[in-house]
Amino acid sequence: MAYNVTLIRGDGTGPELVEATRRVLEGTGVEFNWDVVEAGVDIMETAGTPLPPNVVESIRKNKVALKGPITTPIGTGFRSVNVALRKELDLFACVRPCKSYPGVRSRYQNVDLVIVRENTEDLYAGVEFPIGSAEAKQIIAMGAGKIRDDAAISIKPISRTGSHRIVKHAFEYALANNRKKVTAVAKANIMKYTDGLFYEVAREVAKEYEGRVAYDEWLVDAMCMQLVQKPENYDVMVMENLYGDILSDLCAGLVGGLGVAPGANIGEDSALFEATHGSAPKYKGQNKVNPTALILSGMLMLRYLGEMDAADRLERAVSEVIEEGKDVTYDMKPNRDDPTAVGTSQMADAIIAKLHASAK
Ligand code: NAD
Repeated sequence: MAYNVTLIRGDGTGPELVEATRRVLEGTGVEFNWDVVEAGVDIMETAGTPLPPNVVESIRKNKVALKGPITTPIGTGFRSVNVALRKELDLFACVRPCKSYPGVRSRYQNVDLVIVRENTEDLYAGVEFPIGSAEAKQIIAMGAGKIRDDAAISIKPISRTGSHRIVKHAFEYALANNRKKVTAVAKANIMKYTDGLFYEVAREVAKEYEGRVAYDEWLVDAMCMQLVQKPENYDVMVMENLYGDILSDLCAGLVGGLGVAPGANIGEDSALFEATHGSAPKYKGQNKVNPTALILSGMLMLRYLGEMDAADRLERAVSEVIEEGKDVTYDMKPNRDDPTAVGTSQMADAIIAKLHASAK
């Protein structure tokens, strides 16, 4: 059976990364009907919007999408397509595995963490009031002297519903992926109501999994220190939007950087798979950047589709190519100017060759 999957090529280096990933996914032997749609700065010129309606329609229909990175130009009023897609489809869980692969240059080995980040609430809800606005003044008045008169205000909503579904998702992910522990990360000693509620809900959900998945809690500042000192002690970590955003980059740094950090945005009805990194526009069209993060995002998509064997074979093939260190992009060479570095497309070819060799 062929899977219907929406393929968003993205912009900047997106199209070349997506093409490499599409070829590698097909190299696993799993069949796809790709519904190729355009979003981002290039389509903006002809469609007048960076997110034409057929993109969301296609994902609603197919339920699964693979997406190349999309540029968010600063100060143009052009909204972030990435955030818009997550909101439109209510993709509330951002799942980012951070795993060490031998051969990737990093200060750490044996890291195998998963960040489960809430995607819809928190300071990212977009409820903000500028300095001097009527709303800001109203809130300042409610603050009973705790807020300066010349403050701008961002609201941090954390709901029981939002917290429950993200923590539940983390525990279900742990069970499905044979993980042992979920750690809830917040700052409940300071934000007693919002982060306090997050912990309260997390403890309730943890009880349902007692004996199957362990549970613990860390304050976000202490967690940062734990992660740079003893990352091997942690497993699945669940957190609100802002902490998740920051810790995702921290953990990507533990395993070798953005070039190898995959991601998934998952909702009740649909899922969108994309790398953590952006569109790296300065390298556009140069067949230069590392396809690993998007290919590993494709590996997560295979797992989501239940194609565990293909996902395992793909992960092994990627890992072997990285460990050999020959057919890898410039960023994976000890010296970035190494003339033996290969391009995006050639690294994909090497992974496909490994897939074919393992099938024999
Ligand atoms: P970026 O991740 O695009 O690039 C930062 C640097 O990281 C690059 O200059 C490059 O040196 C390196 N890098 C990134 N991806 C790489 C890869 N695959 N291989 C090798 N090196 C790689 O971050 P940025 O420059 O801050 O963002 C560029 C644009 O992408 C911005 O408009 C931003 O909003 C957007 N963005 C999109 C997404 C997304 O589509 N989900 C995510 C993050 C940023």
